[in-house]
Amino acid sequence: MKNPRIFSLQEIRKRRKEKQFKGDKVVCCICNATYMEFGVFGKQNRPNAQCHNCGSLERHRLIWKYIQYKNLMEHTVRLLHFAPAKAFYKSFSALENLEYYPCDLYPNLYTYGGTVKIHKVDITEIPFEDNYFDLILCNHVLEHIENDHLAMNQLYRVMKPSGSGIFQVPLDYNREHTYEDFSITSKKGRLKAFGQKDHVRWYGQDYKDRLAKMGFQVTEDDYVSSFSVEEQFRFGLDPKEKIYLCKKPK
Ligand SMILES: [Zn+2]
Repeated sequence: MKNPRIFSLQEIRKRRKEKQFKGDKVVCCICNATYMEFGVFGKQNRPNAQCHNCGSLERHRLIWKYIQYKNLMEHTVRLLHFAPAKAFYKSFSALENLEYYPCDLYPNLYTYGGTVKIHKVDITEIPFEDNYFDLILCNHVLEHIENDHLAMNQLYRVMKPSGSGIFQVPLDYNREHTYEDFSITSKKGRLKAFGQKDHVRWYGQDYKDRLAKMGFQVTEDDYVSSFSVEEQFRFGLDPKEKIYLCKKPK
């Protein structure tokens, strides 16, 4: 049963933001809410980042638009979704003809209250058969995994031939090569070296090569550049973020 006090506090906070940011300068492509501006988010206080209604961030909205642009849902029967963000979870759960498998290593951390089960899945040992999924979304996960080669190999294994995946990671384009050092294990050390206490590397420009080595056909897509600066603001997109679309050959 919901705690009525917590529920009402959440509602009050949401309504306050709705009022504070009332307007139509920005629109969330996931939930269609409009505001004067999206909310500030993250350690760097990124402006125009978080939707006040569904909680989506820049990367979620970019991926959402990209899925539509590439028609990736059109032939998708089975979707595997790592670390499912709430905005996506809600939308995908509502699709009747979709076999939706949201998953995480720690499913108990998710308290969305939806009817679709969030499976416990270790990405280095995915408990599904080969060639099973039409589409896989795995965003901001691989930077947490020491053996990311094994994880990428598993993603490849469970993807159907001709299937697709979007595998986003935080990426430092100033680095030619990915930086990792597994001797750094403390939270403080990882924060300093990799920008977050539970990250194990900084991916560099060779990220796409790491994926390609597993057999994926990788497209590094600067899709966000197809929007004008005004549109990037209106849809709350990060102008620096590229999409990593991975296809498994037939
Ligand atoms: Zn939204």
